[in-house]
Amino acid sequence: MTTTAPFAVASPVDGHPLPEVRATPLEGLTAQITASRQAAAGWASAPLDQRASQVTAMAEAILRRREEIAAIIHEETGRGPVQSQMAEVIFVLEYARDAVKVARKALAPEKLPLSRLNFPGKSGVTEAVPRGVVGIIAPWNYPLSNFYKSLFPALLSGNGVIMKPSEYTPRTGAWLYERCVEFLPGGLVQLLQGGGEAGAALLESDIDAIVFTGSVATGRKVAAAAGKRLIPCSVELGGKDPAIVLADCNLDRTVIGVAQWSMFNTGQDCSSIERIYVEDAIADEFVRRLTVVASSLTVAGAAAEPTDMGPLQNERQVRIVEEHVADAMAKGAKLLCGGKRTGKGCGFEPTVLDHCTHEMRIITDETFGPVAAVIRVKDAEQAIAHANSTVYGLNGSVWTSNLERGAALARRIHAGVVYVNNHSFLGTNAFTPWTGVRDTGPGVAASVHAYHTFVRRRTVLMDSNNQPDPWWFPANADLAEFAGLVAEKSRGSLMVIPKLLGVLSRRTKAVQELARKGGK
Ligand code: NAD
Repeated sequence: MTTTAPFAVASPVDGHPLPEVRATPLEGLTAQITASRQAAAGWASAPLDQRASQVTAMAEAILRRREEIAAIIHEETGRGPVQSQMAEVIFVLEYARDAVKVARKALAPEKLPLSRLNFPGKSGVTEAVPRGVVGIIAPWNYPLSNFYKSLFPALLSGNGVIMKPSEYTPRTGAWLYERCVEFLPGGLVQLLQGGGEAGAALLESDIDAIVFTGSVATGRKVAAAAGKRLIPCSVELGGKDPAIVLADCNLDRTVIGVAQWSMFNTGQDCSSIERIYVEDAIADEFVRRLTVVASSLTVAGAAAEPTDMGPLQNERQVRIVEEHVADAMAKGAKLLCGGKRTGKGCGFEPTVLDHCTHEMRIITDETFGPVAAVIRVKDAEQAIAHANSTVYGLNGSVWTSNLERGAALARRIHAGVVYVNNHSFLGTNAFTPWTGVRDTGPGVAASVHAYHTFVRRRTVLMDSNNQPDPWWFPANADLAEFAGLVAEKSRGSLMVIPKLLGVLSRRTKAVQELARKGGK
């Protein structure tokens, strides 16, 4: 397909220009969807085993070529090549194999348990039917895994897919698309390169379902557009995850764990720890140690590779982080380390802010940067109240030596995934329903619970009864008695069964008589 205007994208590593990518002309979108739909018809009729072997072969190729794709991800996101492999590539085959196990469960037909007395001669089954063509719109922060975690189940379900990469990371999307072309039937997966206008056009097209991962603002538009078209929609949006650090935690492990999940991927993770509630009793020591760990992290642009953190992905992201830090400091937060650019590209120093409050944007808005923002609390109850006071709800964690108490507290955090003594580590796992509450959106990525977006249920009912059903016309006096007895039986009274069988036989005769009236 020919393409139009080039994207102007420079590498966040050091600003060097990246190979040109062109937006897909939107006039061709209808033809792309038609081609995908046609290919999906054959794909869906193949046995699951065949689809599974092709998807798994594709995952094997991604794993085999991990250095190549990690280099592209590095160029586009700035994240180091090794960490890119770790975060998005090395588990791809395992993910695909697990996704096949999940698919076998999610796609298996279910027999309906129908009561023989209430439904004589009847049987039923509900089947999973592919939606048709599923649109997948992805963000830039994990440009490979944010695709395959929905792409694999969508394909295993028998759908065609239109994939729309972020305009910030189009080359990673294009590379994955090439693997689809290599291993899947021609036309099944289509690539739509472009920015917001391409995503919006996809929602206006006649796709059958949409999976969207991205910001709250865009997610609202996507959900509204999907609602207008009445197509299933899974939206996975921003987060502002809390970590609650209790006085009895294992301090050595908690400090590095909280630093890891605040700063990993330079904080550009939907489930980064963005608010740290620390009990007063250990706050001084915790903050001191966290500052030591954070300031020892190396940042691309300011240290030789391999570094702990890459730069932020884009200039807009740097400005957001700068604004949040400045707002916090103006409102009384204490800067303990970092707080500014590294001086090269989009690099930003690992930052610790103490004495933050809920009046600060660093606590209320998604920052998406390498900032550990600490709020001191008097106890766990105050921490829980604060943790539940933002509009987001993706992940939350409690750090404590008392696992039972930690689990009870974690369950009180309003979030889709909660942890004790860890955070964020199951973001791309085929069995885990990755989901949220409030503005994070109700979408579900992965697990059997994600399949509502990929398949609809079709119920097939069969009646082998050669008698008319006893509740059909005529509505005579026996019908009222029949209703009363059925109600009694459903309350658990087995004593009514002989009487019920008697009425049933009279009703059957009455219905048969009426049926015979029309005969000769
Ligand atoms: P974004 O909303 O700006 O863009 C996401 C995608 O939507 C891009 O491909 C973009 O081109 C497209 N888009 C833009 N306007 C559109 C429109 N009107 N209709 C349809 N598509 C449109 O988000 P981003 O900045 O790329 O990504 C960062 C955000 O993603 C953060 O908020 C982060 O928390 C979130 N995120 C969430 C999860 C999760 O699992 N909850 C995972 C990763 C990222």
